[in-house]
Amino acid sequence: MQIIKSKALAADYIRKQKASGKSIGFVPTMGALHEGHISLIQCAVKDNDITVASIFVNPTQFNKKSDFETYPISLEADFKMLKEAGCDIVFVPSEKEIYPEKDNRQFNFNGLDKFMEGEHRPGHFNGVAQVVTKLFDIVRPTRAYFGQKDFQQLAIIRYITKTYQADLNIEIMSCDIVREPDGLAMSSRNRRLNDELRREASFISEILFKYHNKQNELTAQEIKNQIKKEFSNNKYLELEYFEIVDNISLRPTDKIGNGTATGCIAVHAGDVRLIDNIRF
Ligand code: AMP
Repeated sequence: MQIIKSKALAADYIRKQKASGKSIGFVPTMGALHEGHISLIQCAVKDNDITVASIFVNPTQFNKKSDFETYPISLEADFKMLKEAGCDIVFVPSEKEIYPEKDNRQFNFNGLDKFMEGEHRPGHFNGVAQVVTKLFDIVRPTRAYFGQKDFQQLAIIRYITKTYQADLNIEIMSCDIVREPDGLAMSSRNRRLNDELRREASFISEILFKYHNKQNELTAQEIKNQIKKEFSNNKYLELEYFEIVDNISLRPTDKIGNGTATGCIAVHAGDVRLIDNIRF
């Protein structure tokens, strides 16, 4: 596995591979890798001749400085996992390499950012769009892989790829949420939970599964009310939002029961913010 820090070298190397007729699968990450990330690498390896991962903790997508500063880093362990999963190239740029100057671009997401993460983390998706468009421009992959765990991010990336970088012709691929044995969605931030909060955090997926199983008996509004109540009785976890949105418009919907909606949740466990979602 090649470890490349320079964007010029990465772009050049990948361009030559592509010129020889090889397909390129790309998995952008912020590192502190876990089995969720590795599942994306495995999909990329299966579908493509060459798999490229990137590790870059993107400062412009953090709306809280403390979240950026405490974001876990484990480069050596990450390299080992990537290599074992069959990754061919890992691109690890510095901040200067990605942002030689301030990125002032403001993206329009056609309303997809109006609720949930977009509402609660102002500027977050603009930062995601800045870094993803820059990485896409460097790597120019055949396919790029993203997790359903970040449901709203996936929809926004599909939109910006189509709207701002249609010429690159990148196919956006989505992969299922990978969970811990107790149901907690894997996340780099999980490693910041102390033992007590880590145990309690399984409540998030437990509640999602519980109400997923009641979608034929309850209305969307009833599910939202009951989930709010469940969290108000939990002294370890603070609910930031639970919303049921249409899969396409990402706007709140009452239509559940046929898989066209998704219930999305954000919860604070101490100072660690966790998200998850499930189809309705
Ligand atoms: P991150 O490093 O958190 O920016 O995540 C990089 C990619 O991994 C994103 O496309 C995420 O959606 C995906 N990802 C993160 N956690 C999981 C998970 N538990 N299951 C599947 N994909 C995930």
